[in-house]
Amino acid sequence: MPVRVRFAPSPTGFLHVGGARTALFNWLFARSMRGVFILRVEDTDVARERPEFRAEIFNALKWLGLDWDEGPLVGGAFGPYTQRERFTLYEEAKRRLVEGGFVYPCFCSTLEEDEQPRVQDDEPLDSYSKAGSCRCFELSADQISKKTEHLGAEPALRFRVDAKATHEVRDLVRGHVTFPPGEVEDFIITKAGGGPLYNFAAVVDDALMQISHVIRGEEHLSNTPKQILLYRALGYEPPQFAHLPILLNNERKKLSKRDGATAVGDYRRLGYLSKALVNFLALLGWSPGEDREILSIDEMVALFDLERVQKHGAVFDTVKLTWMNGEYIKASKIDAVVDGVLELIELEPDVADLRTDRWHVTAVCTLLQERAKTLAEIIKGNKYFFSREHALAWDPEAVRKRAGTPESHGRLASAHEALRALDDWTLADCERAIRALAEREGAKAAEYIQPLRVAVTGYAVSPGIFETIDVLGRDMTLGRVAAFLKAHPAGLTAAATP
Ligand code: GLU
Repeated sequence: MPVRVRFAPSPTGFLHVGGARTALFNWLFARSMRGVFILRVEDTDVARERPEFRAEIFNALKWLGLDWDEGPLVGGAFGPYTQRERFTLYEEAKRRLVEGGFVYPCFCSTLEEDEQPRVQDDEPLDSYSKAGSCRCFELSADQISKKTEHLGAEPALRFRVDAKATHEVRDLVRGHVTFPPGEVEDFIITKAGGGPLYNFAAVVDDALMQISHVIRGEEHLSNTPKQILLYRALGYEPPQFAHLPILLNNERKKLSKRDGATAVGDYRRLGYLSKALVNFLALLGWSPGEDREILSIDEMVALFDLERVQKHGAVFDTVKLTWMNGEYIKASKIDAVVDGVLELIELEPDVADLRTDRWHVTAVCTLLQERAKTLAEIIKGNKYFFSREHALAWDPEAVRKRAGTPESHGRLASAHEALRALDDWTLADCERAIRALAEREGAKAAEYIQPLRVAVTGYAVSPGIFETIDVLGRDMTLGRVAAFLKAHPAGLTAAATP
Protein backbone atom coordinates (compact mmCIF):
# COMPACT_ATOMS: atom_id res chain seq x y z
CA MET A 1 0.00 0.00 0.00
CA PRO A 2 1.54 3.34 -0.97
CA VAL A 3 2.44 5.64 1.87
CA ARG A 4 0.11 8.64 1.98
CA VAL A 5 0.25 10.94 4.98
CA ARG A 6 -1.33 14.26 5.74
CA PHE A 7 -0.88 17.35 7.87
CA ALA A 8 -4.31 18.72 8.74
CA PRO A 9 -4.11 22.14 10.41
CA SER A 10 -7.14 24.18 11.39
CA PRO A 11 -6.85 27.85 10.36
CA THR A 12 -7.76 29.03 13.87
CA GLY A 13 -4.25 30.16 14.82
CA PHE A 14 -0.73 30.65 13.53
CA LEU A 15 1.41 27.60 12.81
CA HIS A 16 2.60 26.61 16.25
CA VAL A 17 5.96 24.87 16.70
CA GLY A 18 4.06 21.73 17.79
CA GLY A 19 2.09 21.78 14.54
CA ALA A 20 5.30 22.37 12.61
CA ARG A 21 6.89 19.34 14.30
CA THR A 22 3.85 17.24 13.28
CA ALA A 23 4.08 18.53 9.70
CA LEU A 24 7.81 17.82 9.63
CA PHE A 25 7.49 14.25 10.90
CA ASN A 26 4.80 13.55 8.30
CA TRP A 27 6.97 15.14 5.60
CA LEU A 28 10.08 13.20 6.67
CA PHE A 29 8.12 9.96 6.77
CA ALA A 30 6.65 10.59 3.31
CA ARG A 31 10.03 11.50 1.82
CA SER A 32 11.82 8.58 3.47
CA MET A 33 9.18 6.12 2.19
CA ARG A 34 8.86 7.73 -1.24
CA GLY A 35 5.28 8.43 -0.30
CA VAL A 36 2.92 11.36 -0.68
CA PHE A 37 2.64 14.29 1.74
CA ILE A 38 -0.79 15.93 1.73
CA LEU A 39 -1.89 19.23 3.22
CA ARG A 40 -5.54 19.39 4.24
CA VAL A 41 -7.21 22.41 5.79
CA GLU A 42 -9.67 21.50 8.53
CA ASP A 43 -11.83 24.60 8.44
CA THR A 44 -15.17 23.48 9.83
CA ASP A 45 -14.86 25.81 12.83
CA VAL A 46 -15.87 29.00 11.05
CA ALA A 47 -16.38 31.02 14.22
CA ARG A 48 -12.76 30.74 15.35
CA GLU A 49 -11.17 31.14 11.95
CA ARG A 50 -9.43 34.30 10.73
CA PRO A 51 -8.46 34.66 7.07
CA GLU A 52 -4.82 35.58 7.75
CA PHE A 53 -4.16 32.28 9.56
CA ARG A 54 -4.59 30.18 6.44
CA ALA A 55 -2.02 32.14 4.41
CA GLU A 56 0.31 32.29 7.39
CA ILE A 57 0.24 28.51 7.82
CA PHE A 58 1.01 27.98 4.12
CA ASN A 59 3.84 30.52 4.26
CA ALA A 60 5.34 29.03 7.41
CA LEU A 61 5.32 25.54 5.85
CA LYS A 62 6.95 26.88 2.69
CA TRP A 63 9.54 28.77 4.71
CA LEU A 64 10.41 25.53 6.54
CA GLY A 65 10.78 23.82 3.15
CA LEU A 66 7.89 21.40 3.80
CA ASP A 67 6.46 21.25 0.31
CA TRP A 68 3.23 19.30 -0.13
CA ASP A 69 2.45 16.98 -3.04
CA GLU A 70 -1.31 17.38 -2.80
CA GLY A 71 -3.36 20.08 -1.18
CA PRO A 72 -4.37 23.72 -1.49
CA LEU A 73 -2.51 25.70 -4.17
CA VAL A 74 -1.16 22.52 -5.81
CA GLY A 75 -4.30 20.37 -6.20
CA GLY A 76 -4.29 16.60 -6.57
CA ALA A 77 -6.51 13.66 -7.45
CA PHE A 78 -8.17 13.39 -4.03
CA GLY A 79 -9.37 16.97 -3.62
CA PRO A 80 -10.80 19.27 -2.66
CA TYR A 81 -8.31 19.64 0.19
CA THR A 82 -10.36 22.07 2.25
CA GLN A 83 -13.06 20.61 4.44
CA ARG A 84 -15.55 23.35 3.76
CA GLU A 85 -15.57 22.26 0.12
CA ARG A 86 -16.23 18.63 1.02
CA PHE A 87 -19.63 18.89 2.66
CA THR A 88 -21.40 16.68 0.10
CA LEU A 89 -18.95 13.90 0.98
CA TYR A 90 -19.82 14.25 4.68
CA GLU A 91 -23.53 14.25 3.84
CA GLU A 92 -23.12 10.99 1.98
CA ALA A 93 -21.16 9.39 4.85
CA LYS A 94 -23.71 10.67 7.36
CA ARG A 95 -26.52 9.09 5.36
CA ARG A 96 -24.74 5.75 5.56
CA LEU A 97 -24.33 6.05 9.32
CA VAL A 98 -28.00 6.96 9.80
CA GLU A 99 -29.13 4.10 7.60
CA GLY A 100 -26.86 1.67 9.38
CA GLY A 101 -28.31 2.72 12.76
CA PHE A 102 -24.92 3.84 14.07
CA VAL A 103 -26.12 7.29 15.19
CA TYR A 104 -29.10 8.84 16.95
CA PRO A 105 -30.39 12.43 17.12
CA CYS A 106 -29.26 14.33 20.17
CA PHE A 107 -30.96 17.44 21.56
CA CYS A 108 -28.81 17.90 24.64
CA SER A 109 -27.27 21.06 23.40
CA THR A 110 -27.36 23.25 20.35
CA LEU A 111 -23.98 24.79 20.94
CA GLU A 112 -22.40 25.91 17.72
CA GLU A 113 -18.81 25.17 18.61
CA ASP A 114 -16.71 22.41 17.25
CA GLU A 115 -15.99 19.43 19.48
CA GLN A 116 -12.42 19.38 18.35
CA PRO A 117 -9.94 19.92 21.17
CA ARG A 118 -8.52 23.41 21.19
CA VAL A 119 -4.98 22.33 20.63
CA GLN A 120 -3.86 25.83 19.74
CA ASP A 121 -5.42 27.37 22.81
CA ASP A 122 -4.44 24.61 25.23
CA GLU A 123 -7.96 24.37 26.50
CA PRO A 124 -10.30 21.54 25.67
CA LEU A 125 -13.67 22.80 24.61
CA ASP A 126 -16.58 21.33 26.45
CA SER A 127 -19.23 21.37 23.79
CA TYR A 128 -22.46 19.44 24.08
CA SER A 129 -23.34 17.92 27.36
CA LYS A 130 -21.18 14.99 28.42
CA ALA A 131 -22.07 11.84 26.54
CA GLY A 132 -22.65 9.97 29.76
CA SER A 133 -25.52 12.25 30.77
CA CYS A 134 -27.27 12.16 27.39
CA ARG A 135 -30.40 10.02 27.33
CA CYS A 136 -31.45 10.98 23.81
CA PHE A 137 -31.06 7.40 22.62
CA GLU A 138 -34.22 6.64 24.62
CA LEU A 139 -36.39 9.09 22.67
CA SER A 140 -39.30 7.68 20.72
CA ALA A 141 -39.84 8.52 17.04
CA ASP A 142 -42.64 10.82 18.08
CA GLN A 143 -40.52 12.68 20.64
CA ILE A 144 -37.76 13.04 18.05
CA SER A 145 -40.03 14.63 15.50
CA LYS A 146 -41.52 17.02 18.08
CA LYS A 147 -38.11 18.08 19.31
CA THR A 148 -36.82 18.46 15.76
CA GLU A 149 -39.76 20.70 14.94
CA HIS A 150 -39.08 22.77 18.02
CA LEU A 151 -35.40 23.03 17.13
CA GLY A 152 -36.25 24.15 13.60
CA ALA A 153 -33.14 22.46 12.21
CA GLU A 154 -31.59 19.11 11.64
CA PRO A 155 -30.63 17.78 15.10
CA ALA A 156 -27.10 16.90 16.12
CA LEU A 157 -26.18 13.26 15.64
CA ARG A 158 -24.47 11.18 18.26
CA PHE A 159 -22.52 8.01 17.50
CA ARG A 160 -23.48 5.00 19.58
CA VAL A 161 -20.58 3.33 21.44
CA ASP A 162 -20.87 -0.01 23.18
CA ALA A 163 -20.37 0.92 26.84
CA LYS A 164 -19.21 -2.60 27.69
CA ALA A 165 -16.52 -2.82 25.06
CA THR A 166 -12.80 -2.41 25.59
CA HIS A 167 -11.20 -0.37 22.83
CA GLU A 168 -7.72 -0.93 21.56
CA VAL A 169 -5.47 1.28 19.53
CA ARG A 170 -2.29 -0.08 17.97
CA ASP A 171 0.04 2.83 17.82
CA LEU A 172 3.41 2.79 16.07
CA VAL A 173 4.90 4.94 18.83
CA ARG A 174 2.96 3.95 21.93
CA GLY A 175 2.34 0.27 21.20
CA HIS A 176 -0.97 -1.19 22.36
CA VAL A 177 -3.16 1.37 24.07
CA THR A 178 -6.25 0.10 25.84
CA PHE A 179 -9.35 2.12 26.65
CA PRO A 180 -11.37 0.24 29.31
CA PRO A 181 -15.18 -0.09 29.10
CA GLY A 182 -16.95 3.22 29.62
CA GLU A 183 -13.99 5.37 28.69
CA VAL A 184 -15.14 5.90 25.13
CA GLU A 185 -18.59 7.41 25.25
CA ASP A 186 -21.21 8.18 22.63
CA PHE A 187 -19.93 11.20 20.71
CA ILE A 188 -21.35 13.87 18.45
CA ILE A 189 -20.48 13.59 14.74
CA THR A 190 -22.57 16.44 13.33
CA LYS A 191 -23.88 19.42 15.22
CA ALA A 192 -27.41 20.83 15.07
CA GLY A 193 -27.88 22.18 11.57
CA GLY A 194 -25.78 19.37 10.13
CA GLY A 195 -22.18 20.68 10.22
CA PRO A 196 -19.62 17.89 10.64
CA LEU A 197 -17.34 17.83 13.67
CA TYR A 198 -13.66 16.98 13.70
CA ASN A 199 -13.68 13.23 14.41
CA PHE A 200 -16.21 12.56 11.72
CA ALA A 201 -14.85 14.87 9.00
CA ALA A 202 -11.27 13.73 9.62
CA VAL A 203 -12.24 10.06 9.24
CA VAL A 204 -14.22 10.63 6.05
CA ASP A 205 -11.31 12.60 4.60
CA ASP A 206 -8.58 10.22 5.73
CA ALA A 207 -10.52 7.30 4.27
CA LEU A 208 -11.33 8.98 0.95
CA MET A 209 -7.82 10.40 0.62
CA GLN A 210 -6.48 6.87 1.21
CA ILE A 211 -4.28 7.98 4.07
CA SER A 212 -2.04 5.09 5.09
CA HIS A 213 -0.57 6.56 8.30
CA VAL A 214 -2.04 9.16 10.63
CA ILE A 215 0.89 10.88 12.35
CA ARG A 216 -0.17 13.60 14.78
CA GLY A 217 0.17 14.99 18.28
CA GLU A 218 -0.51 12.90 21.36
CA GLU A 219 -3.48 15.06 22.30
CA HIS A 220 -5.42 13.19 19.60
CA LEU A 221 -4.81 9.73 21.06
CA SER A 222 -8.13 9.82 22.93
CA ASN A 223 -9.93 10.57 19.64
CA THR A 224 -8.45 7.52 17.98
CA PRO A 225 -10.81 4.79 19.32
CA LYS A 226 -13.76 6.94 18.22
CA GLN A 227 -12.23 7.36 14.81
CA ILE A 228 -11.58 3.62 14.48
CA LEU A 229 -15.27 2.98 15.26
CA LEU A 230 -16.22 5.43 12.53
CA TYR A 231 -13.93 3.75 10.00
CA ARG A 232 -15.48 0.38 10.74
CA ALA A 233 -19.05 1.72 10.65
CA LEU A 234 -18.34 3.27 7.24
CA GLY A 235 -16.77 0.05 6.00
CA TYR A 236 -13.19 1.27 5.78
CA GLU A 237 -9.99 -0.28 7.06
CA PRO A 238 -8.39 2.18 9.55
CA PRO A 239 -4.94 3.55 8.73
CA GLN A 240 -1.94 3.03 10.99
CA PHE A 241 -1.57 5.55 13.80
CA ALA A 242 1.51 7.20 15.28
CA HIS A 243 1.04 9.72 18.08
CA LEU A 244 3.98 12.04 18.62
CA PRO A 245 5.12 12.93 22.14
CA ILE A 246 3.93 16.08 23.76
CA LEU A 247 6.19 19.17 23.73
CA LEU A 248 7.32 20.42 27.13
CA ASN A 249 8.80 23.70 28.31
CA ASN A 250 11.95 23.95 30.42
CA GLU A 251 9.92 23.22 33.56
CA ARG A 252 8.71 20.03 31.89
CA LYS A 253 5.17 21.34 31.70
CA LYS A 254 3.15 21.30 28.49
CA LEU A 255 4.52 23.97 26.14
CA SER A 256 1.99 26.76 25.81
CA LYS A 257 1.68 30.27 24.44
CA ARG A 258 2.65 31.56 27.86
CA ASP A 259 6.15 30.22 27.18
CA GLY A 260 6.87 33.07 24.79
CA ALA A 261 7.56 32.49 21.13
CA THR A 262 5.64 29.43 19.99
CA ALA A 263 4.63 30.35 16.43
CA VAL A 264 6.96 29.48 13.57
CA GLY A 265 6.63 33.08 12.33
CA ASP A 266 7.95 34.34 15.71
CA TYR A 267 11.16 32.38 15.20
CA ARG A 268 11.52 33.71 11.69
CA ARG A 269 11.19 37.27 12.98
CA LEU A 270 13.64 36.55 15.82
CA GLY A 271 16.28 35.67 13.23
CA TYR A 272 16.31 31.89 13.29
CA LEU A 273 17.23 30.07 10.09
CA SER A 274 14.59 27.71 8.77
CA LYS A 275 17.17 24.94 8.42
CA ALA A 276 18.17 25.28 12.07
CA LEU A 277 14.56 25.25 13.23
CA VAL A 278 13.82 22.17 11.10
CA ASN A 279 16.87 20.38 12.50
CA PHE A 280 15.82 21.28 16.04
CA LEU A 281 12.17 20.23 15.51
CA ALA A 282 13.26 16.90 14.02
CA LEU A 283 14.96 16.03 17.30
CA LEU A 284 11.84 16.74 19.37
CA GLY A 285 10.87 13.15 19.93
CA TRP A 286 13.01 11.48 17.27
CA SER A 287 16.68 10.65 17.37
CA PRO A 288 18.88 9.46 14.55
CA GLY A 289 21.09 7.57 17.01
CA GLU A 290 24.79 7.97 17.71
CA ASP A 291 24.10 11.24 19.57
CA ARG A 292 24.01 13.10 16.30
CA GLU A 293 22.53 16.56 16.50
CA ILE A 294 23.35 18.55 13.39
CA LEU A 295 21.91 16.85 10.34
CA SER A 296 21.15 18.04 6.84
CA ILE A 297 17.63 17.57 5.58
CA ASP A 298 18.83 14.79 3.26
CA GLU A 299 20.41 12.95 6.18
CA MET A 300 17.18 13.29 8.16
CA VAL A 301 15.19 11.85 5.27
CA ALA A 302 17.65 8.98 4.94
CA LEU A 303 17.59 8.17 8.66
CA PHE A 304 13.99 8.93 9.63
CA ASP A 305 12.12 6.03 11.13
CA LEU A 306 8.92 6.05 13.20
CA GLU A 307 10.42 3.30 15.34
CA ARG A 308 12.90 5.78 16.69
CA VAL A 309 10.18 8.14 17.89
CA GLN A 310 10.04 8.21 21.68
CA LYS A 311 6.96 8.07 23.91
CA HIS A 312 7.99 10.51 26.61
CA GLY A 313 7.59 14.26 26.25
CA ALA A 314 10.21 16.24 24.36
CA VAL A 315 11.61 19.43 25.88
CA PHE A 316 11.53 22.51 23.68
CA ASP A 317 14.88 23.82 24.86
CA THR A 318 15.33 27.29 23.42
CA VAL A 319 18.95 27.44 24.60
CA LYS A 320 19.71 24.43 22.45
CA LEU A 321 17.78 25.90 19.53
CA THR A 322 19.76 29.13 19.79
CA TRP A 323 23.05 27.24 19.96
CA MET A 324 22.04 25.22 16.92
CA ASN A 325 21.04 28.38 15.08
CA GLY A 326 24.49 29.84 15.75
CA GLU A 327 26.07 26.71 14.27
CA TYR A 328 23.90 27.07 11.18
CA ILE A 329 24.74 30.75 10.81
CA LYS A 330 28.43 29.93 11.05
CA ALA A 331 28.14 27.24 8.41
CA SER A 332 25.98 29.33 6.04
CA LYS A 333 27.16 30.92 2.83
CA ILE A 334 27.58 34.63 3.43
CA ASP A 335 24.95 35.45 0.81
CA ALA A 336 22.35 33.43 2.71
CA VAL A 337 23.17 35.32 5.92
CA VAL A 338 22.94 38.64 4.09
CA ASP A 339 19.58 37.70 2.52
CA GLY A 340 18.22 36.79 5.94
CA VAL A 341 19.52 39.97 7.57
CA LEU A 342 18.15 42.17 4.77
CA GLU A 343 14.77 40.50 5.14
CA LEU A 344 14.76 41.30 8.85
CA ILE A 345 16.01 44.86 8.39
CA GLU A 346 12.95 45.50 6.25
CA LEU A 347 10.84 44.85 9.35
CA GLU A 348 12.73 47.43 11.46
CA PRO A 349 10.60 50.48 12.32
CA ASP A 350 13.43 52.86 11.39
CA VAL A 351 14.44 51.04 8.20
CA ALA A 352 14.55 54.31 6.20
CA ASP A 353 17.36 55.54 8.47
CA LEU A 354 19.45 52.40 8.09
CA ARG A 355 22.22 51.50 5.67
CA THR A 356 20.85 48.58 3.70
CA ASP A 357 23.09 48.54 0.64
CA ARG A 358 24.15 44.99 -0.02
CA TRP A 359 27.91 45.48 -0.02
CA HIS A 360 27.76 47.19 3.35
CA VAL A 361 25.48 44.57 4.88
CA THR A 362 27.79 41.89 3.46
CA ALA A 363 30.78 43.49 5.18
CA VAL A 364 28.90 43.65 8.50
CA CYS A 365 27.72 40.04 8.24
CA THR A 366 31.18 38.80 7.31
CA LEU A 367 32.49 40.38 10.48
CA LEU A 368 29.70 39.06 12.74
CA GLN A 369 28.83 35.69 11.20
CA GLU A 370 31.17 33.69 13.42
CA ARG A 371 29.72 34.85 16.70
CA ALA A 372 26.06 35.61 15.93
CA LYS A 373 23.52 33.26 17.44
CA THR A 374 20.58 34.78 15.57
CA LEU A 375 20.21 37.05 12.55
CA ALA A 376 18.24 39.54 14.61
CA GLU A 377 21.20 39.86 16.96
CA ILE A 378 23.36 40.99 14.01
CA ILE A 379 21.04 43.94 13.57
CA LYS A 380 19.82 44.72 17.08
CA GLY A 381 23.09 44.26 18.95
CA ASN A 382 25.05 46.22 16.35
CA LYS A 383 22.74 49.01 15.26
CA TYR A 384 25.75 51.35 14.95
CA PHE A 385 26.82 49.46 11.83
CA PHE A 386 23.50 50.19 10.17
CA SER A 387 22.68 53.66 11.47
CA ARG A 388 23.31 56.56 9.09
CA GLU A 389 23.65 58.96 12.04
CA HIS A 390 26.94 60.37 13.27
CA ALA A 391 25.57 61.21 16.71
CA LEU A 392 24.72 58.04 18.61
CA ALA A 393 22.94 57.37 21.88
CA TRP A 394 26.35 56.77 23.49
CA ASP A 395 26.07 54.56 26.52
CA PRO A 396 26.71 56.91 29.51
CA GLU A 397 28.43 54.16 31.47
CA ALA A 398 30.81 53.41 28.58
CA VAL A 399 31.50 57.12 28.17
CA ARG A 400 32.22 57.52 31.87
CA LYS A 401 34.55 54.54 32.02
CA ARG A 402 36.36 54.78 28.71
CA ALA A 403 35.99 58.22 27.20
CA GLY A 404 35.02 60.61 29.94
CA THR A 405 38.27 62.21 31.05
CA PRO A 406 40.09 65.21 29.53
CA GLU A 407 42.96 62.81 28.63
CA SER A 408 40.76 60.40 26.71
CA HIS A 409 39.09 63.36 25.01
CA GLY A 410 42.51 64.60 23.90
CA ARG A 411 43.54 61.14 22.69
CA LEU A 412 40.36 60.77 20.73
CA ALA A 413 41.00 64.14 19.08
CA SER A 414 44.50 63.08 18.05
CA ALA A 415 43.22 59.68 16.86
CA HIS A 416 40.77 61.61 14.70
CA GLU A 417 43.66 63.65 13.29
CA ALA A 418 45.80 60.59 12.60
CA LEU A 419 42.98 58.76 10.86
CA ARG A 420 41.95 61.81 8.85
CA ALA A 421 45.50 62.12 7.51
CA LEU A 422 45.37 58.64 5.96
CA ASP A 423 45.45 58.40 2.17
CA ASP A 424 43.95 54.93 2.15
CA TRP A 425 41.29 53.61 4.50
CA THR A 426 42.26 50.02 4.98
CA LEU A 427 42.22 48.00 8.15
CA ALA A 428 46.02 47.77 8.14
CA ASP A 429 46.51 51.51 7.53
CA CYS A 430 44.11 52.47 10.32
CA GLU A 431 45.75 50.10 12.75
CA ARG A 432 49.25 51.27 11.84
CA ALA A 433 48.24 54.93 12.29
CA ILE A 434 46.75 54.39 15.78
CA ARG A 435 49.62 52.22 16.99
CA ALA A 436 52.20 54.71 15.70
CA LEU A 437 50.35 57.52 17.43
CA ALA A 438 50.30 55.65 20.75
CA GLU A 439 53.99 54.90 20.44
CA ARG A 440 54.84 58.55 19.72
CA GLU A 441 52.93 59.60 22.82
CA GLY A 442 54.39 56.82 24.97
CA ALA A 443 50.93 55.45 25.68
CA LYS A 444 49.26 52.10 25.21
CA ALA A 445 47.28 51.56 22.01
CA ALA A 446 44.30 50.62 24.20
CA GLU A 447 44.18 54.15 25.54
CA TYR A 448 43.31 55.33 22.03
CA ILE A 449 41.28 52.33 21.05
CA GLN A 450 38.88 52.48 24.00
CA PRO A 451 37.55 56.01 23.48
CA LEU A 452 37.53 55.40 19.74
CA ARG A 453 35.33 52.35 20.26
CA VAL A 454 32.90 54.25 22.46
CA ALA A 455 32.76 57.15 19.96
CA VAL A 456 32.02 55.02 16.88
CA THR A 457 29.84 52.27 18.40
CA GLY A 458 28.40 53.86 21.53
CA TYR A 459 29.53 50.90 23.65
CA ALA A 460 32.55 49.73 25.61
CA VAL A 461 32.47 46.36 23.86
CA SER A 462 32.42 45.67 20.14
CA PRO A 463 34.12 43.51 17.53
CA GLY A 464 37.78 44.39 16.88
CA ILE A 465 38.01 48.18 16.55
CA PHE A 466 40.00 48.15 13.32
CA GLU A 467 37.62 45.67 11.70
CA THR A 468 34.78 47.86 12.94
CA ILE A 469 36.04 51.12 11.50
CA ASP A 470 37.06 49.34 8.32
CA VAL A 471 33.42 48.26 7.87
CA LEU A 472 32.02 51.63 8.96
CA GLY A 473 34.21 53.43 6.43
CA ARG A 474 36.13 56.65 6.56
CA ASP A 475 33.30 59.19 6.49
CA MET A 476 31.20 57.45 9.09
CA THR A 477 34.14 56.84 11.44
CA LEU A 478 35.45 60.39 11.28
CA GLY A 479 31.91 61.78 11.45
CA ARG A 480 31.13 59.77 14.57
CA VAL A 481 34.34 60.79 16.33
CA ALA A 482 33.73 64.46 15.49
CA ALA A 483 30.13 64.22 16.70
CA PHE A 484 31.26 62.57 19.93
CA LEU A 485 33.87 65.28 20.62
CA LYS A 486 31.28 67.96 19.95
CA ALA A 487 28.74 66.33 22.24
CA HIS A 488 31.31 65.95 25.04
CA PRO A 489 33.29 69.22 24.73
CA ALA A 490 34.83 69.25 28.17
CA GLY A 491 35.88 65.63 27.98
CA LEU A 492 34.65 65.29 31.53
CA THR A 493 32.71 62.53 33.13
CA ALA A 494 29.96 65.01 33.85
CA ALA A 495 29.63 65.67 30.17
CA ALA A 496 28.26 62.19 29.50
CA THR A 497 25.36 62.35 27.10
CA PRO A 498 22.11 63.20 28.76
N1 GLU B 1 -7.19 19.68 12.69
C1 GLU B 1 -6.62 18.82 13.68
C2 GLU B 1 -5.61 19.62 14.51
O1 GLU B 1 -5.22 20.69 14.08
C3 GLU B 1 -5.97 17.64 13.02
C4 GLU B 1 -5.80 16.46 13.89
C5 GLU B 1 -5.41 15.24 13.12
O2 GLU B 1 -4.30 15.22 12.58
O3 GLU B 1 -6.23 14.33 13.00
O4 GLU B 1 -5.26 19.24 15.59
